[in-house]
Amino acid sequence: MTTNTTSNLARAAEGTTDSGSELAPERIIHCQFARAQQHLDGLDGGLLEVLLPPRRTITVNIPVELDDGQLRTFVGYRVLHNRLLGPGKGGIRFHPQVSLSEVAALAALMTWKCALLRIPFGGAKGGIACSPKQLSQRELRRITRRFVSELGDNIGPYTDIPAPDLYTDSQTMAWIYDTYDALHPGENNLPVVTGKPLAIGGSEGRSEATGRGCVLAAERLLSLGAVPQLESLDGARVAIQGYGEVGRVAAHLLHERGARVIAISDSRGGVLVSNGDRLDLAALNAHKAENGTVVGLAETRTITNDDLLALDCDLLIPAALGGQIHSGNAAAVNARVVIEGANRPVTPEADDILAERGILVLPDILANAGGVTVSYYEWVQNIEHHSWPLDDINGRLRARINNATDRVVARWRAFASHPSNGDLCTDLRTAALVEALERLTSILEQRGVWP
Ligand code: GLU
Repeated sequence: MTTNTTSNLARAAEGTTDSGSELAPERIIHCQFARAQQHLDGLDGGLLEVLLPPRRTITVNIPVELDDGQLRTFVGYRVLHNRLLGPGKGGIRFHPQVSLSEVAALAALMTWKCALLRIPFGGAKGGIACSPKQLSQRELRRITRRFVSELGDNIGPYTDIPAPDLYTDSQTMAWIYDTYDALHPGENNLPVVTGKPLAIGGSEGRSEATGRGCVLAAERLLSLGAVPQLESLDGARVAIQGYGEVGRVAAHLLHERGARVIAISDSRGGVLVSNGDRLDLAALNAHKAENGTVVGLAETRTITNDDLLALDCDLLIPAALGGQIHSGNAAAVNARVVIEGANRPVTPEADDILAERGILVLPDILANAGGVTVSYYEWVQNIEHHSWPLDDINGRLRARINNATDRVVARWRAFASHPSNGDLCTDLRTAALVEALERLTSILEQRGVWP
């Protein structure tokens, strides 16, 4: 095997802005990949290039009749990034900013996430560009069903398995299953999609799994002594951006562990506790359910999302959209650790600024991997026609997250003791990605490229 550590694709991505702005999703992925690749001595550049671009991208037009009788056409995407380790796996998001480039970048993250967690899945992602808050349930159902029918056999229990993501949930997954099942009668189609309702083959613990995984990874990172004088969550001050499935669950589990959630935000703004040392989460839930936002909660002060990112705290958890911490605001971050509950919330430029300032970033492919981990358990249960109890699921999740965190921290520590690493990126993200890429390249070498 020849020694050529930097692929053309990755070289083009690192250090240039030609391919778009700092926030361009694919540039971020290429840049992260290039940084990890520099640590993978002795690996053939061509071999690594096989791992970066998606294997297949699909764009479909989805004509749908709205409730008022109007016809509209939405655009949907499904990207299969890689299936070296198993069938493609990854969520489907409904959001106005969904684009092919963003879905492709998120699909690559799924490949790395599954490889890091040693889950036998490849990476995939899908999405429909739409404004889900402005669509009725009936409209969303018709859009979802037509999307599934357009995808045809490009999804399947052993080819590519969707799951929830931004603004999709167990109801969306039930429609996906039902449509696929109608088109493929007579088979056990439950494993075609994960994140389903419990009554339709869903798994215990799946809806909380991403938030739970986030807290477990943070807890393990601290217990390994990665952050001086912060060895447990007990007493830690936490700010959370986003009060969706991830932020809400993380807030409650952190609270249970003695952490103090001092601020939280949603798309309309944020709240910072003004009376007491932590937010009243029960009151917050009730307020959000009644008003549709966290803003206005009693005994808090209203802040902006930018204010939240700059709060003095121990843990900052961006759990909303990508690209939130960038070169324009990273210098204002005042946390000790950033835990990436969302996918790609921190840009490579911000990674550098945070690293220089001694702020650790626990990367998305580890911090939010709880969701796909329990998706894998759901898939296995569906194939086995069996259901596992919640304690069993949560125990397996904890063991797998701890194991991955231990491997990432060990590799990160090894970077520091390696004399030739002086000029290379040696953060936790790079350590996680090297861990994932080593697994992928060793399997690619053993399998070889067909024909
Ligand atoms: N959408 C989630 C993620 O980004 C979960 C994917 C899955 O369960 O397949 O990891």
